[in-house]
Amino acid sequence: MSARAEHLSARLQGYTTTIFAEMSALALETGSINLGQGFPDTDGPEQIKRWAIEAIEAGHNQYPPGKGIPELRRAVADHARRCYGLQYDPEDEVLVTAGATEAIAASLLALCEVGDEVVMLEPYYDAYAACTAMAGATRRVVPLRGPDWRMDPDDLEAVVTARTRIVLVNSPHNPTGRVLDDGELSAIAQLCVERDLVAVTDEVYEHLVYGPAHVPLASYPGMRERTVSISSAGKTFAYTGWKIGWACAPAPLLAAVRTAKQFLTYVSGAPFQHAIAAALEAGDALVETTVESLRARREQLCAGLESLGLEAPRPEGAYFVTTDVRALGFEDGVEFCRMLPERCGVVAIPSVVFYDDVPAGRPLVRWTFCKQQAVLDDALERLAKLLR
Ligand code: PMP
Ligand code: GLN
Repeated sequence: MSARAEHLSARLQGYTTTIFAEMSALALETGSINLGQGFPDTDGPEQIKRWAIEAIEAGHNQYPPGKGIPELRRAVADHARRCYGLQYDPEDEVLVTAGATEAIAASLLALCEVGDEVVMLEPYYDAYAACTAMAGATRRVVPLRGPDWRMDPDDLEAVVTARTRIVLVNSPHNPTGRVLDDGELSAIAQLCVERDLVAVTDEVYEHLVYGPAHVPLASYPGMRERTVSISSAGKTFAYTGWKIGWACAPAPLLAAVRTAKQFLTYVSGAPFQHAIAAALEAGDALVETTVESLRARREQLCAGLESLGLEAPRPEGAYFVTTDVRALGFEDGVEFCRMLPERCGVVAIPSVVFYDDVPAGRPLVRWTFCKQQAVLDDALERLAKLLR
């Protein structure tokens, strides 16, 4: 290999396969129930599917505008105003992306320079680490510690340096299910303002909450003007495969993100953009049904895991529960997850992949409850073999 190629592949070493792809492949190979990757095993509301089919039949099948179709940009702005009182101009403050993933990648590529530092909560969603590395930046992590997964503002303060450019905040949080409270969000906002940092927020689970409502960081004093707020239709409407996401930010920040996005995908998902515009405009009913059904499944999975002897504190948001497998006599989540399909026919995710602090993440395993109740029952029955 040439020195240049070696250098480039070393830079992204460790990001070559995602744990989600590896574990989903293992689920298929072994015929296991996949409680690993977070995708629903049934389609979202039927009406939204109809809207997509109608959009295809109406001929919305060529490149949409670079920023996204006007109907969806308006719907995203309306949603931010209706739900959070945040005002964005659909013309130059809203950008449609290929899922939240592209919005995150474009934000980091656009707003970081080589050598800059990106602060993120640990455990962190795997794309943050990879996208930070692709931007030539360095990650600095602030731990959320179990069992309640709270952020200590002193830990945040301690990792910010003169090189810090971005604070990347994920709430509701994957993998822990934590929804940051007012104290934590205020501390982040205050620090961003004091140190003149840009915030990038990943709010893909904004509507999947089972207790206190989600509050966007952008709604804190001084934050709207320095925050790129990211979300996606995948989780809210249970259509993860459509990959319709968006970013909202003040025009100068969003223009930079749009430039990066333009050369990643340019555009995507024309008919799905129409369907999601209609879904967002349809208001809350479509989402409420999903949340209620997830709430029941959260209880089902957590209670089931508890009956196996695991501690399963109920997550406040998203659709994952994190357990410590030492309660079952295992030390290492990776070994546990590699053994599980063969032994029980169930797949889960070893949380250590979301950690720099390997000892902290080693015994943790993440399970998703966004599967049908009968599937969760079957998985729990299979897991009972662990006790035999
Ligand atoms: N952020 C978080 C925290 C996630 O869990 C996911 C998983 N879907 C994403 C971003 C990616 O979202 P999308 O599928 O819209 O790209
Ligand atoms: N967000 C989902 C999860 O955390 C899917 C991630 C992925 O497939 N990249 O499980």
